Amino acid sequence: MQITANNPDRKSWLQVDKKSDFPIQNIPFGVFITKDDIITIGTRIGEFAIDLGAFHQLGYFDGIPLTDDMFMQDSLNDFIADGRKTWRLVRNRIADVFDVNNPALQNNEKHKEVIIFDVNEVEMLMPIDVGDYTDFYSSKEHATNVGKMFRGEDNALMPNWLHIPVGYHGRSSSVVVSGTSIHRPYGQTLPNGASEPVFGPSKLLDMELETAFITTAANNLGEPIHIDDTFENIFGMVLLNDWSARDIQKWEYVPLGPFLGKNFASTISAWIVTMDALEPFRCEGPKQDKVLPYLQQKRTDTSFDIKLKAILKTENGDKNLLSESNFKYLYWSMAQQLAHHTVNGCNVRSGDMMGSGTISGPNKGSYGSMLEITWGGKEPITLKDGTTRTFFQDGDNVILRGYCENDKVRIGFGKCTGKILPPVNLKNK
Ligand code: MN
Repeated sequence: MQITANNPDRKSWLQVDKKSDFPIQNIPFGVFITKDDIITIGTRIGEFAIDLGAFHQLGYFDGIPLTDDMFMQDSLNDFIADGRKTWRLVRNRIADVFDVNNPALQNNEKHKEVIIFDVNEVEMLMPIDVGDYTDFYSSKEHATNVGKMFRGEDNALMPNWLHIPVGYHGRSSSVVVSGTSIHRPYGQTLPNGASEPVFGPSKLLDMELETAFITTAANNLGEPIHIDDTFENIFGMVLLNDWSARDIQKWEYVPLGPFLGKNFASTISAWIVTMDALEPFRCEGPKQDKVLPYLQQKRTDTSFDIKLKAILKTENGDKNLLSESNFKYLYWSMAQQLAHHTVNGCNVRSGDMMGSGTISGPNKGSYGSMLEITWGGKEPITLKDGTTRTFFQDGDNVILRGYCENDKVRIGFGKCTGKILPPVNLKNK
């Protein structure tokens, strides 16, 4: 089935700014609540949030096999479980109804009133009920940088790294939607030079500039997904800030990996951009060698050219650019991650989330964490207001952005933001 929704020449009768992340070619999916307390699945064009529950009720999806309440839900899990054919039919239809040449909804003021909202008048909610969250570690630059700092130059990249898309199972309960504030976490740390650990608020609170992909109900327990079939099972992508408390992480991570240094919060952007919308931005990833057959892909354009940014907004409103990276730097592709994840028979479900791992590029301006940007805190950065940072302070607001662009269309993710609040009060410090 053709992805007619991607037609770069299509224009909408809704006004869209040229620099918008959400032209009619994007049609992402999210969940929002209106001023009248109605929770619905929706999409977005420009600065307009579109209530797909009302859109469906008023007959605009007629002819597409959908359950009556498909969009009147507080998560996209059921819609995602319906599979690629449905996603494509729905996106194509939305594009058609909002096309400048289609008068049906355009000329129906009553319908427009219940379907279309100013995006600033709705509140975005978590788009999915995340069943399981896995975080990979797929940027060679990031893994090398962290390895150098934690283990030294000679053992930077572990011997398995070039063979396995390394990952760990994260925590889904603390995945939150953009705009949710994060309390500085408490934990155990081993201060430099000390022989006994101490307890207190993390002093080394960090971001991780990542993306994540969302899967459908892909396979039954015991049945691996062949690498060439993986893409059928990926619904779309979001930006992900995988908050990390480096001092807690450093003390706890041997031998079983990240735990409380990671699971206090992970923030995702509110709109899931579909793989269909990202299709025009495929590109080649880094050259790989020594890849076992089950991880070898037929196609070579296995990555995506997604420009990424991390920005620190201080309390006075200044925006400081921390990093400019790109998804295409990732060594392991999403297809390889999903094939590896399921090769032992592990089943993935609709709404599962797979983080890319911090996406660092080759040079300092493209590092995806403060750990790397300030090289373990040894090289502080100076902000516009004259203060310095190694890691984040209370009151800092971390903003991730991401978009793809060619000469005809720009497809973006909107914002992934989170403000850091002071630690909560404890009874027994
Ligand atoms: Mn991570």
